[in-house]
Amino acid sequence: MAVAKVSLLDALHEHFGFDSFKGNQEKIINSILSGKDTFVIMPTGGGKSLCYQLPALMLPGVALIVSPLIALMKNQVDLVRSYSSKDNVAHFLNSTLTKAQIKKVRSDLTSGKTKLLYVAPETLTKQENLDFFRELQISFIAVDEAHCISEWGHDFRPEYRRLKEMIDMISDELPIIALTATATPKVQSDIVKNLVLRSPEIFISSFNRPNLYYEIRPKRKKDQTIKDIVKFIHSHKGKSGIIYTLNRKTTEELADMLVANGIKAVAYHAGLDAGTRASRQDMFLLEEVEVIVATIAFGMGIDKPDVRFVIHYNIPKSLENYYQETGRAGRDGLEGICVCFYSHKDVQKLEHLMRDKPLSEREMGAQLINETVAYAESSVCRRKVILHYFGENLEKDNCGNCDNCRNPKEKIEVKNRVVIALKAIQSLEERFGSEYVVNIITGKTNPQITTFKHDKLDVFGEGKEFDEHFWNSLLRQMMLEGLIEKDIEEYGLLKIMDKGKNSSKNRTPSWFR
Ligand code: ADP
Ligand code: MG
Repeated sequence: MAVAKVSLLDALHEHFGFDSFKGNQEKIINSILSGKDTFVIMPTGGGKSLCYQLPALMLPGVALIVSPLIALMKNQVDLVRSYSSKDNVAHFLNSTLTKAQIKKVRSDLTSGKTKLLYVAPETLTKQENLDFFRELQISFIAVDEAHCISEWGHDFRPEYRRLKEMIDMISDELPIIALTATATPKVQSDIVKNLVLRSPEIFISSFNRPNLYYEIRPKRKKDQTIKDIVKFIHSHKGKSGIIYTLNRKTTEELADMLVANGIKAVAYHAGLDAGTRASRQDMFLLEEVEVIVATIAFGMGIDKPDVRFVIHYNIPKSLENYYQETGRAGRDGLEGICVCFYSHKDVQKLEHLMRDKPLSEREMGAQLINETVAYAESSVCRRKVILHYFGENLEKDNCGNCDNCRNPKEKIEVKNRVVIALKAIQSLEERFGSEYVVNIITGKTNPQITTFKHDKLDVFGEGKEFDEHFWNSLLRQMMLEGLIEKDIEEYGLLKIMDKGKNSSKNRTPSWFR
């Protein structure tokens, strides 16, 4: 269905009162209106909801929106209703409704009054619901927070895995729209595969937040770190900030220390009762406190535009988490300072937290932690590293707004080591991942290596003067520079890219000096 541009703007104005579309919204909406499978990757706050809400209101029938969080569902429905004169234009269907409420929702659906129905994935597991939906005219299915499909997403939901199967039981012809704010290339490919998107139109918005300043500070003694934080906050007097820590106890301790130093601060974590949490959140929003010291339980759905700093007292468990958490700074486009304290001890703490998890989960967790370690230890532009993590390439080498760009570290001569790494990958015929490659370079054996006689390779042990951290970090920098890539379709096997093939022969790459 072709919808003229002017009428789309009119519809936007009519239904939401906005005068213009943000970012890719218009193109996305056109894709949905034309019945194509569509994949939307847009940072938080970018305006994803409108991308499916407007076409849902315009198309005949009702759109089903799959959303993982019951609490957010109600907010969404209230929001849509607030724009409309009719309450029954949007409903949700989940386990919190009474029988009478369900009956009302169903009757509004059957009579065609409802244009948007929010459902939890669990709702779709019930056969009676599927049977009911099969009789309805459905315009399309939107899968919000689609990263929940992937084990590599930061909040994997196993029920999301079965969505396609359940959607097909309603009809296998429904267009599917997947939306997420956090999709690394690996997660993206999981989403497309799992939902079996049919030649989807893919819209990726930039993840760059130019107004955020990124900095890593070494974390030494506790007293010193706290002093450092107090000094930082004093130099940003009256500004709002969030401090993230790893556990509940630390939030309390740190908040007490700040208060003792004349800073208005409170702790926030999942161990507090709902009333206390709500009131502390309000205190922060109303600026009765300047600083909230929180575990990652804090932040979901918080929309305070003028948070001026986000401090990580501990290194986060993934770069994705870091991006989300720092993303709460500078929503208004003005200054946002993101400081992360880094010590290797905290890395061990994170690893320790996973000790009781199944092996596969531990391996995955370890890889995610590795990426944050690489970020913290890198001398490359921080923004470049973060964006690369999301599959985006920052063209310039110096962003001017991170510690590494403002105070470039002395670059070390690593050319020979790059050559060793390339040689190892080549000798292994590009058929192994980084862990294996690093074992070869540092000269470690394991049964697999002996079986394949890789310990007889020339390059075996050629880099043993440096440890595995060094080599892992170098491999990651080589990925950033585009010399090698991790084949996400193939278990992360390292492949040499054209630039890598040439670089072993000629010039030293720009920042490998
Ligand atoms: P996301 O789901 O991508 O995090 P939301 O859909 O919650 O983002 O939208 C974020 C904010 O942007 C909301 O307050 C919404 O009303 C606003 N918004 C969305 N589209 C527009 C637009 N075209 N013009 C103005 N504001 C918009
Ligand atoms: Mg959203």
